[in-house]
This record gives sequence, C-alpha cells and structure tokens, in this order.
Amino acid sequence: MKKIVFATNNAHKLQELRQMLGDRYEVLALVDIGCHEDIPETADTIEGNARMKAEYVKEHYGYDCFSDDTGLEIDALGGEPGVYSARYAGPGHDSEANIDKVLTKLQDVPMEKRTARFRTAIVLLQGEEHLFEGQVEGIILTERHGTGGFGYDSIFQPVEGDGSTFAQMSPEQKNSISHRGRAVARLVEFLNDRQ
Ligand code: IMP
Repeated sequence: MKKIVFATNNAHKLQELRQMLGDRYEVLALVDIGCHEDIPETADTIEGNARMKAEYVKEHYGYDCFSDDTGLEIDALGGEPGVYSARYAGPGHDSEANIDKVLTKLQDVPMEKRTARFRTAIVLLQGEEHLFEGQVEGIILTERHGTGGFGYDSIFQPVEGDGSTFAQMSPEQKNSISHRGRAVARLVEFLNDRQ
C-alpha cells in the first residue's frame, strides 16, 4: 500500500479522508511520522498556506504529502476573514469570538449584501504539485442557528439546501455540498485514477 501524509492531526478530517480513499493508500497523520512541531502557516493566501505545509513535510520527512487550508470570504468585509479565519478575533480566541466579531462588523449590513463563501485549497505534492479547490456560496445570518459542526457553521447558510445553516445539517449533508467535501472529492478522484 502506498503511503501518503495528510499534514494534519485533525481526527475528523483524517477519518473522512481514510473512508473516502478506501484501502488504496495508507494515510498517515503528522503524529504518525513523528512531526510534532508547529508547521509555519504564514502565507497570505489559503493556497500558499496549504503549499507551505505540504512542502515542509516533503522537505523534512521525505513523504508524498497533501495539505488543506480553508477560509471564509465575506463580500461586505472585502473578503475577510479569508486566510485569517482561524484567528480573526486574535490569538488565543476561539470560534465564538470569531463569530461575534463577524456579527458585529456586519451589524448594519442588510441581508442581500451578506453574501459569502467558504473556499478550501488542497495542495498535493506527488511528483509535481497539484492543486484542488472547492467552494460553497452562502449568506451570513444575523444570529447563530444550530449546534453541530464547528468554526463559523452556525452563521453560514449555504445557497444550496433547505435554509439550514451548516450547524443544523448532519455531517453527511454538509459534506455533500461543502467546500472541503468538494475539494476532497477532487483529490480522491485524482489519487484513485493514479493507482
Ligand atoms: P482550516 O484551514 O481547516 O484549519 O480552517 C481554518 C478556519 O476556517 C477554521 O479555524 C474555522 O474557523 C474555519 N473553517 C474551516 N472550515 C470550516 C467549516 O467547514 N465550517 C465552519 N468554519 C470552518
């Protein structure tokens, strides 16, 4: 079985990927290759961050590798929080603080102007570099709805769907239309075709 590293230790992302790839690849997490350091993510685009992480693993550990990075782009905020989605409210703050910051900034913005999208970039280094992207359009609601998911899920209502936020959907429902679900599906299709 070919070994490939997913530059993450996020158990949920790993499980999803391993399920989708079946038994063609052995997908290793960072912890499986003894990588315990904080990999720099200092690029100013999500593609740049994904590339940085994958290159770090390839250079320091020698494995074929892929890495993902996601951003929420809100049109009324000029594309913010974008590449800074994880730390929008500042270092040491959690998702709730990030959501509060978004809701405050959008306080006076009417519904029709609250358009946004999640974008995921996955960079695979296998021989050469390959880029896979996924995105989903939606609007930012004025308050939280639902308790599932993570990050900004409770204020993001995708255009496709029944009016639920991502936080009100089952993981399967969310994955079938989500930014990351789409990017991962493209990566998986590519890897399976290569086998
Ligand atoms: P990451 O690149 O997957 O770590 O995502 C960066 C940040 O974007 C996370 O810390 C979350 O705040 C946000 N984010 C990423 N994916 C999602 C999602 O599916 N729903 C809600 N927020 C997300």
